[in-house]
Amino acid sequence: MSEKAPLNSIDAIVKLGSFVFDETTEYELDETCSWVNDLFNELEEGVEREEEDYSLGSIACDLSLKRKSGKPFGDHLLVKGNIRAKYMTPCVRCLKLTSQEVEAHFQSCLVPQRLEKEPEFEELDDVFTENEEYALYFHDKGNADIAEMVHENLFMNIDHFPLHDPNCLGLCTECGQDLNTGTCKHQNVQ
Ligand SMILES: [Zn+2]
Ligand SMILES: [Zn+2]
Repeated sequence: MSEKAPLNSIDAIVKLGSFVFDETTEYELDETCSWVNDLFNELEEGVEREEEDYSLGSIACDLSLKRKSGKPFGDHLLVKGNIRAKYMTPCVRCLKLTSQEVEAHFQSCLVPQRLEKEPEFEELDDVFTENEEYALYFHDKGNADIAEMVHENLFMNIDHFPLHDPNCLGLCTECGQDLNTGTCKHQNVQ
């Protein structure tokens, strides 16, 4: 095993040809890596960072890459990863900024795109190799889109209905009054 220090940058799309077979390369990425920073910005899409209740979050992604060859996948890449982020997003009911945390662990096996059309891979979501289960992904003629694979794993795990408080009362649908802070004439109808 090599004892190289983890790298802190990786291209969004890597070339398999630039990795030595059976050698593991470790990465410790954060917002200084441009596509990781893009993921953070996407998590905070629509957030006004000038707002007073905004607080700066963070994102970090650890990756471990190993290029392999041999049947049945041919030239393939095994990726183990963990991504975690703390970010601000509007409450879906009242739009108040709320702090969210997300963490995703994933193991992916990127095999040649041409295998996608073969019957044994057609219905497959996971593959078993090196005594472990990996989610099946494809690389395009040796170009592996690492950013897209991490993106999918991250957004699969976020809370799609974030609430600033589980009992948030939301906004009046008639006048927009924040019902957490006061009431309006529309609320006394029943
Ligand atoms: Zn709310
Ligand atoms: Zn109202």
